[in-house]
Amino acid sequence: MFDKILIANRGEIAVRVIKTCRKMGIKTVVVYSDADAGSLAVEMADETVHIGPAPAAQSYLLQDKIVEAVKQTGAQAVHPGFGFLSENASFARRLKEEGIAFIGPNPEAIDAMGDKITSKKFAADAGVSTVPGHMGLIETTEEAVKIAREIGYPVMIKASAGGGGKGIRVAHSDEDMAEGFAAVKAEAINAFGDDRVFLEKFIVDPRHIEIQVLGDKHGNVIHLFERECSIQRRNQKVIEEAPSPLLDEATRQAMGAQAVALAKAVNYDSAGTVEFVAGQDKSFYFLEMNTRLQVEHPVTELITGVDLVEQMIRSAWGEHLNLKQEELKINGWAIESRIYAEDPYRGFLPSIGRLVRYEQPQEGEQDGYVVRNDSGVREGDEISMFYDPMIAKLCAWGETRAAAIKGMARALEDTHLSGLGHNVPFLAAVMDQERFQSGVLTTNYIKDEFPEGFNGVAPTELQVKQLIASAVAMNEVIAEQDGDPSERAEWTVLVGKTAYEVEVGYDEDEDLTVIINDEEVTVSEIDWRPGLSLFRAVLDDEAFTVEVKRAADGFDIRSRATKERVRILRPEIASLYAMLPEKQAADTSKLVLSPMPGLVVDIPVVEGQEVKQGETVAIIEAMKMQNILKAERDGKVKSVKAKAGDPVAADDVLVEFE
Ligand code: ADP
Ligand code: ADP
Ligand code: MG
Repeated sequence: MFDKILIANRGEIAVRVIKTCRKMGIKTVVVYSDADAGSLAVEMADETVHIGPAPAAQSYLLQDKIVEAVKQTGAQAVHPGFGFLSENASFARRLKEEGIAFIGPNPEAIDAMGDKITSKKFAADAGVSTVPGHMGLIETTEEAVKIAREIGYPVMIKASAGGGGKGIRVAHSDEDMAEGFAAVKAEAINAFGDDRVFLEKFIVDPRHIEIQVLGDKHGNVIHLFERECSIQRRNQKVIEEAPSPLLDEATRQAMGAQAVALAKAVNYDSAGTVEFVAGQDKSFYFLEMNTRLQVEHPVTELITGVDLVEQMIRSAWGEHLNLKQEELKINGWAIESRIYAEDPYRGFLPSIGRLVRYEQPQEGEQDGYVVRNDSGVREGDEISMFYDPMIAKLCAWGETRAAAIKGMARALEDTHLSGLGHNVPFLAAVMDQERFQSGVLTTNYIKDEFPEGFNGVAPTELQVKQLIASAVAMNEVIAEQDGDPSERAEWTVLVGKTAYEVEVGYDEDEDLTVIINDEEVTVSEIDWRPGLSLFRAVLDDEAFTVEVKRAADGFDIRSRATKERVRILRPEIASLYAMLPEKQAADTSKLVLSPMPGLVVDIPVVEGQEVKQGETVAIIEAMKMQNILKAERDGKVKSVKAKAGDPVAADDVLVEFE
């Protein structure tokens, strides 16, 4: 077996690969950019090599630097993780020439599958069902419109070199087509340096279901069942699970067999994923093959017990697959939530910054579920604008789908992040939705369920009890600590604007009892002291955790997707609160504010300029995502507050109108 492996990646996936190497007794080398000098992966690796400045193009994407680092450290193999050089056939070839093993498939397989058009042709030849459409390249808009009419709207416009949700657009009409064709071509040349575009039928309300495959260098290929990844925003996955609630055994077998057939057709010899879109009627069509470890591979590991990174390393070393298709079984259910540094309350825009607080849920077996948290950062680390906004992949396993969902909801409660925007409340909202629980998913799920965007959810009856119980309990803890235990037993508790009559007492076990509008609950096992951000307790028989912050006149408490100011007041004071005027939001109609922290790319207007509605006034970039800000109405620019290259925070003023 290899003695030493170099990991040409960063963050969570570098940490993930190190864990398996340690288990196998293999030494690790991690390369790092300026931005990652103090990272967890760098701390964990046996050796590290600095390879350049923060931008990936000057560090993680430089093949020369990686090869040099391999030679310098005497590593025998490179694990590329995902993203960066993981699907780069020229990198795989280069390593081969240098006598270094690539822990991934052979370069010919990467070539064949790396391009969406080529891979679709391969798939069709291997007997895999493909999305109906046009297999050829399309040069002009006229041609595109003609072909789209033949296929029948809606159609999907795709960049052949596309990936990561970029270079994809739906067209419903000739007008959409004309506009979208040019847009995808432009995006493709920018993002991939390759403007080849093709068209396929848009499958309405589809589900994204993919098959994990594994091959060795001796012609053996197996599949490890499916993952469903239908919960997406901007064509990118947010929540994944295995198995899929849609599939029956026959469909699973059929998809698995097609995926294996395709992998065999390209002599696939590592871990890979064959992606399909599936109709609600269980029809399915090949989308693309990802010739690398997939972000969401942990859910497959949780239901099969197979370590996919270990399998990749073994097959790169030349071992025969030690797993047999007949022996593989699905055990239970697993769900993954991608915790992103993004603000769900602002259209999921990136939200970078320092992770001031980061409490992670306990890993391993819990009460009725198992938690796994793949994370690449620690409290105090910076989530920079240079890379992917993923902070962690939180997974929960249960015997059944319902148990896995319940476990995920609890694990999310036990996750606390502060210092930047994050999507934990959003993920919690999805876990609590009946539709998600019923398993009726499509890739439009987020758009369907949150048509106005995400704005939190109103508390359920149980949550109201949890909010009040935690506020009352904290109040008691504080009063006791101040040496001033409150004699008072009757309060009015305001949850947001709603008032509840509350009576506080203690039962014979010294547990706190709270009567809320005549209904009594018992709060036991209270785990909180001033300064802690998480409040834990058991309400009646149910354990729960809420995130808490003291406010001037109460507590700000978040329970899952609900956030409320909770105030504990004497009844006579509470009635005064009802009369207080509401705070007016500041008038920002004359201001153009940065919607996210990032870098100013351009502010193409100057002081005194007349601007028409819809005209671009600023472009902000973070994590490779550009946000184009347009004038909301006609007006004259009074002043310009930032210039290209400036770093800006969310809500910083960019342009002011008269
Ligand atoms: P997954 O199904 O594993 O999430 P994605 O297609 O979303 O697959 O991509 C996973 C990672 O790889 C992301 O970090 C994404 O940015 C990156 N990625 C995928 N394809 C490309 C590409 N062609 N160019 C650059 N990055 C890519
Ligand atoms: P990427 O390389 O960016 O991952 P994919 O081809 O895998 O691109 O597509 C990304 C997502 O776009 C899919 O998961 C699916 O939600 C959606 N999608 C792609 N092709 C189609 C199609 N023909 N019909 C409907 N949805 C599609
Ligand atoms: Mg894909």
